[in-house]
Formats: sequence, C-alpha cells, structure tokens
Amino acid sequence: MKECRMDLSIVVPCYNEEEAIPIFFDAVTAIVDQMGVNYEFVFVDDGSSDSTLGILRNLAKAHPQVRYVSFSRNFGKEAGIYAGLQYARGEHVALMDADLQDPPSYLPRMYEALQTGKYDNVATRRSTRAGEPPIRSFFSRAFYRLINRLSDVPIVDGARDYRMMKRKMVNAILATGEYNRFSKGLFSWVGFRTLWLSYDNVERVAGQTKWSFWKLTKYALEGIVNFSHAPLDIATNIGMFMTIVAFIWAAVLILKKIIIGDYNVSGWTSLTCIIIFLGGLQLFSIGIMGQYIARIFLETKHRPLFIVAESSDEENGETEE
Ligand code: UDP
Ligand code: MG
Repeated sequence: MKECRMDLSIVVPCYNEEEAIPIFFDAVTAIVDQMGVNYEFVFVDDGSSDSTLGILRNLAKAHPQVRYVSFSRNFGKEAGIYAGLQYARGEHVALMDADLQDPPSYLPRMYEALQTGKYDNVATRRSTRAGEPPIRSFFSRAFYRLINRLSDVPIVDGARDYRMMKRKMVNAILATGEYNRFSKGLFSWVGFRTLWLSYDNVERVAGQTKWSFWKLTKYALEGIVNFSHAPLDIATNIGMFMTIVAFIWAAVLILKKIIIGDYNVSGWTSLTCIIIFLGGLQLFSIGIMGQYIARIFLETKHRPLFIVAESSDEENGETEE
C-alpha cells in the first residue's frame, strides 16, 4: 500500500483548460492555505491540445505542492480521475473540475466532516440546473430516473464528481480496475458512509464544456450498460412474450382452418409486417447483447486505462511504482 505523506491531495482532471487553470489554482490555493493542512495538487492533463501542459509545467516548477501527469492522448475524464487517484499521496483526496464549477469554499467543510469520523467521504450534488440548456436538463433527468430503476446501486441525480474521500475509499476505488469506468456508479458501489452537500449550479469560469450532446448520450448508455443487466432481461422478456403470442396465433389459425376450412392464400401484407417486426426485434435484442459483449471484449484485453507521456515526478527524479 502507498505511503501517505500528505493530509490532502486535490486531484484535477484537465482537458484544454488553459484559461481556467490559473484562476482555479489561485482560488483553491487561497482557501486551502487557510486550512493549515499539508497538501498537494495532482493535475491530470488528459491529452490537451492547447497549452494546458505548458501551464502545468510552469506551475509545478514554481510551486513544490503542484504535481502533474500528462497523458499521451485524450483518454477521457474517467481515466483522468483514475490516474489522479493513483498518483495522489494524500490521506484525504479531493476530486475537482478545473473550471471552478466545484466551489473551493466547500473544501474546509468537507475536510472537517471527515475529521468527525462519522463519514468516509463527502460528496456533492447541485440543487439546481440553472444555466444549462433546458433540453439537456430534460434528458439528464430522464436518464437518472431510468438508471435508478434499472441499476442496483443508487445514482444520485445532479451528483457531481466533486468530493473528498478518505484514503481507504480511494484504495477501494483504485481496486476496481475495470476498463469501462462509470465513476458515479463506482463511488456508490464501493459503499462507505457518505455525507451529501448541495449547492446551486455554478457556471464554468472560462473555456468551453467538453460535453457535447452526443458525448453525454454515450456516457448515459455507458452508465446503464455498466451498472445494470436489465436491458438483457428486456430482450429475454420480449422473446418470451413473442413466443407465447406465436403459439396463440398458430392455434387460432389452425382452428380456423379446421372449423371454417378457410383456405386463405392471401395475407402477404400481414406476413410482411410480421416478418419485419420480428426481424427488428431480433436485431434489437442482438444489439443489446452486442453492447455487453463489446464491453467484455474491451475488458478482456486488459489494456491500461491511460498512458502517461510525462509527469512532474519523473522530472524530479522520483518514480511511482
Ligand atoms: N475533462 C477531462 N477529459 C475529458 C473531458 C473533460 O479531463 O475528456 C475534465 C475537464 O477539463 C474538467 C472536467 O473534466 O476539469 C469537467 O469537464 P467539463 O467542465 O467540460 O464538464 P461539465 O462541467 O460541463 O459537466
Ligand atoms: Mg464543468
């Protein structure tokens, strides 16, 4: 197990955040300096194409409490979170976005709550979705309703990734080495005692959101397939239902033939509709199965979750195990 040399690590996944990082750094430093703890920043540059890496290099040079890891390409926020947690050396680890949508003023409260010994982790959710396009809010809400019906682990609507955890929870998260990571589900799945804080939605301080509608849809599907096998049950249930319907329909046709003696050679239209309908259902079910198989395929390759191109530790002659 990793030796913890810090009271607090602040893990920040960054993708093209050149504008936000300096503002973020100043705002968070101002608050954490007041807390009287021994802390470090762990910035994860997720293959940014702007000058994020250069800014991080300079920050690390100027401030001993800043460390960074830079990926060889964009691996996604989930990989960024994992890498950050792996590099963090703190007894407590906070996870924050670089855009100040996660108010740093909550850090002292989170830290205190963990000191009481009543909680292992303090999580946050936003109480409003102000500033978000209404259509996006609508689909987000629908997604949370759906996934909570389908999945065994609760996934809180509006939950942010902003949280502070004790080392034992961080280790538990790191032990879930799955390739297809849906952190919102994993945080819930590992358990532990959670205190929820909520705040009004804050708009990002600079730069653009990295989430297009398409990316969010993929993320939602990822969540459902990773934390529920209900879609597979849907395919099974439809199959059973259609089989029963087929039996009844066959019985009706046979009886009709025997009783009425009706020799009906027409019926091309109905037949075509039935074939197309069943064909569609079959492809749909195979597609659902395919979603799961594709994930099994990815998992069995055991590829690394991220590839590090550069990190501040190497430059200082330190090595991570
Ligand atoms: N992010 C990342 N990799 C990505 C996309 C985003 O590390 O591929 C980081 C991003 O730099 C930010 C955080 O994840 O610090 C949240 O991203 P963003 O603010 O775009 O999402 P939103 O707040 O709109 O949900
Ligand atoms: Mg944001």
